[in-house]
Amino acid sequence: MPVPCDHNRTQIIARRDGVDYVECLDCRQIFEAEDLEPVKVEEDEE
Ligand SMILES: [Zn+2]
Repeated sequence: MPVPCDHNRTQIIARRDGVDYVECLDCRQIFEAEDLEPVKVEEDEE
């Protein structure tokens, strides 16, 4: 069962169109820094 993450430890990984993207160091989720909404990340799909 996954443990809810508060995303307290993040690092900026990219900036695009004035938006900072941050990655949570704990759960590796990618967010927009402004609202911490999950962002679709391109990963290997087959
Ligand atoms: Zn997290």
